[in-house]
Amino acid sequence: SALVVAMDGPSGTGKSSVSRRLASALEASYLDTGAMYRVATVWVLRSGVEPTDADGVAKAVAALPLEIGKDPLSETVLLDGEDVSDEIRGDAVTKAVSAVSAVPAVRELLVQLQRDLVSSSTRIVVEGRDIGTVVLPDADVKVFLTASPEARAERRNKQNIEQGRVDDYESVLADVQRRDHADSTRAVSPLRPAEDSVIVDTSELDLDGVMERLLLVVND
Ligand code: C5P
Repeated sequence: SALVVAMDGPSGTGKSSVSRRLASALEASYLDTGAMYRVATVWVLRSGVEPTDADGVAKAVAALPLEIGKDPLSETVLLDGEDVSDEIRGDAVTKAVSAVSAVPAVRELLVQLQRDLVSSSTRIVVEGRDIGTVVLPDADVKVFLTASPEARAERRNKQNIEQGRVDDYESVLADVQRRDHADSTRAVSPLRPAEDSVIVDTSELDLDGVMERLLLVVND
C-alpha cells in the first residue's frame, strides 16, 4: 500500500544510513534531497559563481542538469550526465552548500523537482531538512532525527578517520555547530521539526536501535 515517510533532522544523526535502511526494509524508493542541494552547489562552483551571490546562484541553477536515482541500494547522482556522487561529499561542496541552499530560487526549483519525483513513487522514504514542514506536509509518517552536537561530531569525525582523513574532533564539532546555526536561522525553510513529527534522539542508539524505533513508528 502507499506510504510516504519524511525523514528530517540535522547532519550526523545517522539520518542517511537509517533512511536508506528503512526504505529497503519497507520495499520503498528513497530520495536524498541533501544530495540534490549538493549537486546544485557543484554546478554553482563550476559556473564560477560565488555561493554568496544570490542572484548569480539563482541564474546558474535555472539551467541545472540534475538527475537523481531513487534506489536505496545504489546511489545515482548525475550532473549533465556525469557521475558526481563522490564530488558532492567533498569539503568544497560541504562548505558552500548552506549558502546555496539558502537562495529561495534554489529551494523553489528543488522542492518542485522533489514533489515530482515523489509523486511518481507509491512507497518512498524522503530524507532532508524541510520534508515534513514544506515539501510534503501530508506525508503519512514524519520523523525528526536529533542527537547532541557532540554525538554528531563524534560520528562525523569517526567517518573522516575511516576515510583516511585527519582526526580533528574540535573542528568537526565547530563545523557541525556552524551548519546547525546556518540551517536553523535562515529565512527560508529553517530546520525545525514538523508539529506532527515523531522526534527520535539517536545520541545513545546504534543503527539497529534506531531502525527498531522507526519500524514501530511506521507500523503504528
Ligand atoms: O543532508 P546533507 O548533509 O547532504 O545536506 C547538505 C545541505 O543541504 C544541508 O546542510 C542543508 O544546508 C541543505 N539541505 C536543505 N534542505 C534539504 C536537504 C538539505 O537545505 N531538504
